[in-house]
Amino acid sequence: MALNVVFLGPPGSGKGTQAERLAGSRGLWHVSTGAILRACVRDGFGPDGTAGNPELVRQTAAILKAGQLVPDDLMMVLIREALAAVPAGSSGWLLDGFPRTAPQAEGLISLLAELGSDEPVVLEIFVPNEEIVRRLSGRLTCSTCGHVTAAGLAVEGDPCRVCDGHLAMREDDRPETVRNRLAVFREKTRPAKDVLAARYRFERIDGLGSPNDVTQRIASVLAAAG
Ligand SMILES: [Zn+2]
Repeated sequence: MALNVVFLGPPGSGKGTQAERLAGSRGLWHVSTGAILRACVRDGFGPDGTAGNPELVRQTAAILKAGQLVPDDLMMVLIREALAAVPAGSSGWLLDGFPRTAPQAEGLISLLAELGSDEPVVLEIFVPNEEIVRRLSGRLTCSTCGHVTAAGLAVEGDPCRVCDGHLAMREDDRPETVRNRLAVFREKTRPAKDVLAARYRFERIDGLGSPNDVTQRIASVLAAAG
């Protein structure tokens, strides 16, 4: 039986790192919506890394270049192409960055039934809000050369180590901005999680500690799945 995994978690949860590790160690096809969308814009390539469906790619690139959100129905088509491109008899796939809405989650359930895919395990990397804020906020950026200094190593107004400019905190890196973005993310994606959790095996992974700790927890949970 293939190991199919839907990975959930906000930016700052360590989801991307864990997704790459799991895909690498288990030989899973890593289907990342971020990578698919970037490829559409950058190369005009389809989701499976080939020429794909040129019309679909053009349409997606135009939406992203206009700064708009890719609508659910187009997102579904892209995911369908990506999952349909996974060869039969492979070890499985790992879906990263999708679904983000309840309609996408419902669409995924129908799609997997239609493709005859083995039921996925849904893994949510859970990290408390304040820890994510701590991880993602506080960086200081030189307003002259753009050199970035990690949080805690300097304060606003300190001189830059690279040029004769000074360090300032970008709006995006302020704790309150990160906190707000995280609240919006959780509120918007919760319905998708609820739909999946009601249908498939759902596991919440403690995302605190070192990346190796989290990798170990994921391995244990999957081993328990059999
Ligand atoms: Zn500088």
